[in-house]
Amino acid sequence: MSETLKAKIRDIPDFPEQGIVFKDIMPLLADPATLRETVDLLAEWIEPRKPDVILGAEARGFILGAALAYKLGCGFVAARRPGKLPWKTVSATYALEYGENSLELHSDAIEHGQRVLVHDDVLATGGTAGAICNLSEQLGGQIVGVAFVIELTFLEGRKQLGDYEVHSLIEY
Ligand code: AMP
Repeated sequence: MSETLKAKIRDIPDFPEQGIVFKDIMPLLADPATLRETVDLLAEWIEPRKPDVILGAEARGFILGAALAYKLGCGFVAARRPGKLPWKTVSATYALEYGENSLELHSDAIEHGQRVLVHDDVLATGGTAGAICNLSEQLGGQIVGVAFVIELTFLEGRKQLGDYEVHSLIEY
């Protein structure tokens, strides 16, 4: 685990709710050296899995997801909150560490047989990434891996993603 990267994660207690310690990646993104190291380390793990597309979760999964897609020569697909995508969608609702959420994909975002790498900033309970993997598979995608910057191991999100290869750079 990279201590340089970990030093750039800001803990914000009781955000967005009492009892949640929010892991803020903004300081890590704002620093050119740690931004580059994060993209490079994630890309190193992802590259041999040969994805066709990087699928990022709204909203923080878009930032590094797009950088990874560019670096690896993949396409980028966005999983968005309900009502944001203009074309036909497929949708999933799931439980969060705090509350509930729904995400949608364009129903033509993934072609049958495409190799899909799912990315988000934080793996907490695994509900978000699990739902996105299910949606991709509904569209005929093949999940080749799920990659995060941060993993909150005490929430055991990996169990939720049991069928997939999971990677994170920083564990708590
Ligand atoms: P989960 O579905 O429980 O794995 O939650 C993951 C999603 O919620 C990700 O999109 C994260 O950005 C966000 N999230 C959950 N818990 C935290 C946390 N403690 N700090 C920052 N983001 C979080």
